[in-house]
Amino acid sequence: MNFNTKSPWILHYDGTSCNGCDIEVLACLTPLYDVERFGVINTGNPRHADILLITGSVNDQSIPVVKQLYEQMADPKVVVAVGICATSGGLFTDCYNVVGGVDKVLPVDVYVPGCAARPQAIIDGVVKALAILDEKQNAMKK
Ligand code: SF4
Repeated sequence: MNFNTKSPWILHYDGTSCNGCDIEVLACLTPLYDVERFGVINTGNPRHADILLITGSVNDQSIPVVKQLYEQMADPKVVVAVGICATSGGLFTDCYNVVGGVDKVLPVDVYVPGCAARPQAIIDGVVKALAILDEKQNAMKK
């Protein structure tokens, strides 16, 4: 990893999750894990975000939203799918309106397993995303 990497700002979007993974994402911000001490910010503005972190599968209703959020983010950007629903559709795969995991709609860079995904796994996913963000940034400089 490049040591010049800045702390990433994250946009968290809940596709269609049961909120289990969202609670674990929020746990990363609590004093026990406290990712903000490393400068990681959970921003609500896609234009400020480096990482799009999605929980839950995507359905017909959420597809345009997910696409719009991604398009509003500046390059380089990384997509992290958190939890089995976001990575593959999970429990809800057979629901009438579920299209599947996030990679049915966007290029996913990091897959974080779990139901719910544990905070340690989510933080590990963000660290992996940082390395990919670095690679994309370096590729843009060439
Ligand atoms: S992976 Fe499990 S906890 Fe996470 S949104 Fe899906 S059902 Fe809920």
